[in-house]
Order: sequence, then C-alpha cells, then structure tokens
Amino acid sequence: MRNLKPTMYYKDIFSINYRKLKKEGIKCLIFDLDNTLALIDEKKCPDKTCKLIKKLQDDFIIFIISNNTKRRIKPYMKDLGVDAVSLAMKPLTIGLRRIKRIYKLKKKEMVMIGDQIITDIISGKNFKIKTILVDPLGVKDLKITNLNRKLESWIINRYRKRGIFERGKYYE
Ligand SMILES: [Mg+2]
Repeated sequence: MRNLKPTMYYKDIFSINYRKLKKEGIKCLIFDLDNTLALIDEKKCPDKTCKLIKKLQDDFIIFIISNNTKRRIKPYMKDLGVDAVSLAMKPLTIGLRRIKRIYKLKKKEMVMIGDQIITDIISGKNFKIKTILVDPLGVKDLKITNLNRKLESWIINRYRKRGIFERGKYYE
C-alpha cells in the first residue's frame, strides 16, 4: 500500500504550529473547507476561524480547495478575502496546480490542510507537497464523503495495527 501517512497531524486548524511552518519555508496554506474550516452546515465563516485566517494572512498566502460547490464556498471567500477552487475533485491535483502557477510557488512552499485522507491528504501526496491532517470538526459529512470515510477507517485501522498512525496521537 502507498504511504498515505500525513506529514503532520493536529487536532484542528487552531492547534497547528504555524510558526514552525513559516520557519520551514512554507508560504502558502491550502485549506479544505468542510469539517476543516467549518461544519458543513455553517453557511458563514465562524468568527473563530475568520480571526485565525485573517491573522495568518500576515504571513501566508491562504487558499481554499473544496470538492463542494461554488455556492457553498462563496461566502467564505468573501468573509475571509481569499481565493478558492470549488468542485476540485480531490484527490486530483487540479486546484493545487492552479495555485502553484498563479502564485509562482515552489512545491516545498505549499502545504495542504484537511480532514480527509482520501481527498485532502492524497491530493497533497499526489502533488508531492507537505500535508497536514486535522480531525473533522463535526460528524456530519457530505453524502459522497461517507464512502470515503469507510475507506479511510479501513486504512487507519491497518496503519494502527502496524504502528504507523493512530487517531488522536498527534505529531508534527
Ligand atoms: Mg473536509
């Protein structure tokens, strides 16, 4: 099986060590939306997330790549003043490729942050950039995600048995 272990693993976007990322030369943080920045039924960006992202914009280019629709992402783009790619079809790397081109970034300057191994982490791995897994903010997912979650728990179960990865054992 391919190595699907995320580069780093944190509880949520609020516990990520952004200072360390900056030190490591990361210039662009690419976030997933649903269950990473907000719950799937939060129509507007939660205050806490807004505050964090606004602060991070001092140090990083912030981008959202979501498999959800433009309509879903739009209020977040507006609230946060960030660019985004919708219907990104992660684990495909279309969105990541676009960001790299637009901002003239190097791969080592980019990191993909999300709550799903099957979409977020694999897209980052496919593009050969650093990946950060966070625990999902809520239990409710898009319908399509339910299938991904089944596959994900199968992978995580195997990884746990082999001592490679375990839910709740955060690392950086
Ligand atoms: Mg997600």
